Amino acid sequence: MLDKVLIANRGEIALRILRACKELGIRTVAVHSKADRELMHVRLADEAVCIGPASSAQSYLNIPALISAAEVTDASAIHPGYGFLSENANFAEQVERSGFVFIGPRAETIRLMGDKVSAIESMKKAGVPTVPGSDGALPDDDDAVLATARRIGYPVIIKAAAGGGGRGMRVVHSEANLLSAVSVTQSEANSAFGDGTVYMEKFLEEPRHVEVQVLADGQGNAIHLFDRDCSLQRRHQKVLEEAPAPHIDPEARAQVLKACTDACLEIGYRGAGTFEFLYEKGQFFFIEMNTRVQVEHPVTEMVTGVDIVKQQLLIASGQPLSIRQQDVEVKGHAFECRINAEDARTFMPSPGKVTLYHAPGGLGVRMDSHLYTGYSVPPHYDSLIGKLITWGADRTNALTRMRNALDELLVEGIKTNIDLQKDLVRDSAFQQGGVNIHYLEKKLGG
Ligand code: ADP
Repeated sequence: MLDKVLIANRGEIALRILRACKELGIRTVAVHSKADRELMHVRLADEAVCIGPASSAQSYLNIPALISAAEVTDASAIHPGYGFLSENANFAEQVERSGFVFIGPRAETIRLMGDKVSAIESMKKAGVPTVPGSDGALPDDDDAVLATARRIGYPVIIKAAAGGGGRGMRVVHSEANLLSAVSVTQSEANSAFGDGTVYMEKFLEEPRHVEVQVLADGQGNAIHLFDRDCSLQRRHQKVLEEAPAPHIDPEARAQVLKACTDACLEIGYRGAGTFEFLYEKGQFFFIEMNTRVQVEHPVTEMVTGVDIVKQQLLIASGQPLSIRQQDVEVKGHAFECRINAEDARTFMPSPGKVTLYHAPGGLGVRMDSHLYTGYSVPPHYDSLIGKLITWGADRTNALTRMRNALDELLVEGIKTNIDLQKDLVRDSAFQQGGVNIHYLEKKLGG
């Protein structure tokens, strides 16, 4: 078993990782910026190291500072959480080269999945269904590009191979705009990601976002923990998630779940990971893989009873997976509402002092948050301040519990999106289940 883990993150996920370490008897090192001395997990960790000023570039993204902190505290492993350096192959490589365990996949796997063109290529090989599109990167040949779009059929979407966070994408509705859209996306990708490679996909008009959680030990064992629906998004940012995804064709589901575990074995995957799909008219289409723990992992934990972060730690300790596929069952239903410190109307971040915090409770209610009364939300980082998760015997029950829990939740002193969440869980289309990825923006716009 790992003996001491450095948590290279902040906020709720740092606290989540700390809790899993404590359960396994692993000692913890919290690292924090100068603006983050008051974070909850910093107080609870065995040791704490200040790694730099408030700016993420000089602290949470500062690789030499993180590695030095691991050295001075004699940590055995580094958990990157999500965001920051979690999908940075160079970081994973430097962590391992410095003699620490990186809690995640091998650097080469992160690199393979980080390039969307190579990710799609390897998924095709493994039998995972992908979006109809170009065969790899678009060539520097106008006629070939035009022919590819004709074959796929308009509308198409041009995407940067190195893109992420919803950036580096452009939808094209007709041939007249194709070539200029390709060259604009290429140059944008070049300046934003340092790689101008782009590819083309059929643009699906009304898809849902459905993803599959996997665990693999890199020793020949891989399992899936079923699916989640994360279709409620604003600007490609997820707002409210649930597990399992409602109204999915059972045959298509069984096929995609198996394809994901097969793909893990095929690429020698190690750790927790998520295959993201667009789901339309009963079919799944792979778009990308996240090689880390995701914000929305708790909904899967609630319906399967599997502690995903604990599994990450066990896998990183070199233990073979102890859970077999036939032992994993979905029981009931779970929702997660992301609670953000932001203005309800403009969505501008709203940092500041929390004058009152009261978390809801009761059967099937879980609050993952680093907030406490008197805590000041710093202006330098992501606006996520917590996640409210509810479980119920069925979807209706879980949703009822979410409505009641949101009514109990109090965060005063700063602006939050709690009212938006209260509105969403009472929305009639959402209550039916299965709304598409455009639903939230249309609702907000209209
Ligand atoms: P990123 O890594 O930037 O998140 P993704 O490939 O995951 O990029 O795509 C982000 C979002 O863009 C998807 O969740 C979906 O809303 C939209 N999108 C991407 N590809 C397509 C497509 N082929 N058709 C329709 N929408 C798409």
